[in-house]
Amino acid sequence: MQAFIIDLDGTLFRGTEMIPGADLFIQQLRERKLPFLLMTNNSTRTAAEVARHMQGMGIPAEETDVFTSAQAAAQYWDEEQQGKRVFVIGETGLREALKDRGFELVDEAPDVVIQGIDRKFDYEKLTAAVRHIRAGAKSIITNPDHLLPSDGGFLPGAGSIAAAIERATGVQPVVIGKPSPIIMRYAMARLGAAADRTLVVGDNCVTDIGGGAAAGCRTALMLTGLATVSNWREHAEAAGVQPDLVCHGLDELLHKAMSIESIS
Ligand SMILES: [Mg+2]
Repeated sequence: MQAFIIDLDGTLFRGTEMIPGADLFIQQLRERKLPFLLMTNNSTRTAAEVARHMQGMGIPAEETDVFTSAQAAAQYWDEEQQGKRVFVIGETGLREALKDRGFELVDEAPDVVIQGIDRKFDYEKLTAAVRHIRAGAKSIITNPDHLLPSDGGFLPGAGSIAAAIERATGVQPVVIGKPSPIIMRYAMARLGAAADRTLVVGDNCVTDIGGGAAAGCRTALMLTGLATVSNWREHAEAAGVQPDLVCHGLDELLHKAMSIESIS
């Protein structure tokens, strides 16, 4: 393959722990000069913070290797050119990504409501978002995930907050993060790679494998996170996807990815 789009949580690390081989895997991609992006639907951290988080575990990631759904959402609204005033429901990662693109974060009369996960979400924010969208503001969400795995059990994700807003407004938001083709298209443009020469790697059959397949990429399912040796067939069937590769670890992935070359 020519390029890699690689998921983070459940693929390179779990929470604060590196998945064995993630450091060597990234090192190998660099040595072989294979372009890659580390793509996350998580909009809470900035790309720099994500890179530092990984460096802390021993994964040699740089800020420029990281592409977050928050950055992709900011890029999307920038390209739409429909106004600079943004009402945000989200955390630092999203707010900073929007400011980096020169947007003005406002409480009143926004052109768009851009929403990610917000662990301080409350009724007041819901009310404001609903009123803005009903008054004509566009509606964008960073990612559609309903649930996020965490150490203490599942947490409601950005998609669950989005469901409340959508229910009250009747307006379907534009979805930016995986499995949306929007973030995949931006990633491939950044990598300078065609879809059929790009391998999307991740542990989630819906977002990673489904998103990769929908974008026309090859896909590799990792059995190190949501998908495991015992549940992956069930996950794949429920998502209606068939990964091109199924790998128990990153060393196996690198080996198999190199051999795809001869097929394509
Ligand atoms: Mg994952």
